[in-house]
Amino acid sequence: MAKISINIATGSLQQQEMIVGIDLGTTNSLVAIIHPESKKPVVLKEHDGHALVPSVIHFDGTGTATVGDEAKKYLITEPHNTIFSAKRLMGKSYNDVREHASFFTYKVIDDNTESLVKVQAGNKFYSPIELSSFILKELKTRAEHILKTQVTRAVITVPAYFNDAQRQATRDAGKLAGLDVLRIVNEPTAASLAYGLGMDKGEVRTVAVYDLGGGTFDVSILRINSGIFEVLATNGDTYLGGADFDRAIVNYWLSKLNLNETPAAEMAQAFRLQAEEAKKHLSVSASFDGKVGEYPVSLSKREFEDIIMPFVEKTIQCCTNALSDAQLIIGDIDEVIMVGGSTRVPLVKNAVADLFGKKVNDSLNPDEVVALGAAVQADILAGNNKDFLLLDITPLSLGIETMGGLMDVLIPRNSKIPSKVSRQYTTQKDGQGSMRISVYQGERDIVKDNRKLAEFNLTGIPGMPAGLPKVEISFLVNADGILIVKAKELRSGVEQSVEVKPQYGLSDEEVEKMLLDSITNAKDDMQVRALVEAKTEARILLDMTNNFIGKNRELLTIQELEATENAVQRLEYLLISGSKDEVQAAIESLNEISRPYAERVMDQAISVAMKGKKI
Ligand code: AMP
Repeated sequence: MAKISINIATGSLQQQEMIVGIDLGTTNSLVAIIHPESKKPVVLKEHDGHALVPSVIHFDGTGTATVGDEAKKYLITEPHNTIFSAKRLMGKSYNDVREHASFFTYKVIDDNTESLVKVQAGNKFYSPIELSSFILKELKTRAEHILKTQVTRAVITVPAYFNDAQRQATRDAGKLAGLDVLRIVNEPTAASLAYGLGMDKGEVRTVAVYDLGGGTFDVSILRINSGIFEVLATNGDTYLGGADFDRAIVNYWLSKLNLNETPAAEMAQAFRLQAEEAKKHLSVSASFDGKVGEYPVSLSKREFEDIIMPFVEKTIQCCTNALSDAQLIIGDIDEVIMVGGSTRVPLVKNAVADLFGKKVNDSLNPDEVVALGAAVQADILAGNNKDFLLLDITPLSLGIETMGGLMDVLIPRNSKIPSKVSRQYTTQKDGQGSMRISVYQGERDIVKDNRKLAEFNLTGIPGMPAGLPKVEISFLVNADGILIVKAKELRSGVEQSVEVKPQYGLSDEEVEKMLLDSITNAKDDMQVRALVEAKTEARILLDMTNNFIGKNRELLTIQELEATENAVQRLEYLLISGSKDEVQAAIESLNEISRPYAERVMDQAISVAMKGKKI
């Protein structure tokens, strides 16, 4: 089992090329490498000393994207076309983000479906994968500019709580940006590596990583055993961070100034910026005095600490919860690591140190520590750190064919061996008695471009309406590199399995070629995938709409029926020859037409059902 990486420029294996570590953050992103001379991790900085790239993307009228500080300027003036926090949307469905819809100032398509979210800017629709790829592309370009060499291989970090779909989405974003993603690493693991933890053979440690950034908080408990990092528990609040501190300061000032009305956007922004300034100042001083427009504002450290105490207490409660989930007590924790800009606040540091009863690790820059650790991991993968144990890994991704001939990856390439993953699928047709399972190996989005390893039928599924059967497909790659695929219908218990040798017949050169193809074709593949997905969504919507109209025709007005008929016809027409954006826009307009009457009919049905019943 080999670890294979490629140089996209030459298509050949090149051991000398730098592998970069990337912290793809919710608010900011950055890149680090191991310095060729000092052999120490360092973040890449522009001439002006700037390392952080704000994870913000602005789209102009023509759909051209700008990323970073330039894009950030548009947050206030063009909120609809300026995308921030794309990371929060990775691998999420509409339903997952509904609760926080008001958080996003841009349009997150909020149809009532289980499919993945899209963002609309202008007349274009973007997946979170595409949005993240814009940020990664910018990081790649900057890194190449600073290093004066091509950058094609990377390690990217993700939160420990990211699920399979979110990790895969991050990999895909890398691929789309022209990066060969060698490994997805947990952020707390990277932070531990940056502090040199887990680098000694036989070392056993339990570590708490406390990560309080601009908009998110998480705490992870890790067990490190001879170079293997295991996440024992994670806890946190994905909508808690330094921005809450800023907001609380603004509210405090507004009430002190007796300003009861919400200030206009520009003024609100000026207050927010001054609040952030005050917060940072108070990390090193006892008081702050400043001005917002004509208003003088001030804040003492005591006042600040009182204001943010509830937030800090909440994070401490999360730490306690994580410990109990890991079935550990405070005394079990050997090291505490601080990550994220907001851990610079002395009250935060002290509260965490008090809870764990020990000094925290805060000697590295908390904004940089994750990227630094990613660089350490990259160096290990590059084979420069020979003392470090490298586990056997799968050289190509393994997955199955899903609707429309798309590849659904269960075990991503470079996964450790042995490895086991299960995922649930369901049927497409009413009464469907069997399901064909086709197993593929490769990095392309469309299965026909990958290599088919096996195919079998799961038969004997009892007759049920479409979507009801629960078919669990599990992939196990054992220590010998043999893949065992099992399919089981969970309601009835029928099951079937096959055994395959994934690499059989593939030379290193062939594997290398498959990887190269996947990156050079990433953009086209992505477009085909997006079109297939939009069309699948359109077909489901057309079915639902026709069904609904068939049952409730007499409850709709002539105008509603006509408008629906037109929208249906347009969508059917676009299914044949439309682009992804056209299909998406037609889905949106059909949804907008049907939503009001669908809600009305539902309400009527409920009131009929409730008649005469007391609650
Ligand atoms: P991150 O998401 O890790 O980049 O963290 C950014 C957050 O850290 C923002 O809310 C910043 O306002 C906050 N931050 C940065 N520097 C300081 C500081 N010196 N004191 C307090 N908060 C800070």
